[in-house]
Amino acid sequence: MATKKKKRAKLVCTVCKKSTYFTNKTKAVEEKLELSKFCKYDKKHTPHKEVKK
Ligand SMILES: [Zn+2]
Repeated sequence: MATKKKKRAKLVCTVCKKSTYFTNKTKAVEEKLELSKFCKYDKKHTPHKEVKK
């Protein structure tokens, strides 16, 4: 019995609130991610936070 558990986290820019990135979550990472990513809307690096679908 194989259960498919693919966690895909959506990263949303904290500045413009647009979602730009998707990342694969592993089981080990249960905490909310916060990553600095380049936002194409802000044209700079901004903090991106994980949101739940
Ligand atoms: Zn942005």
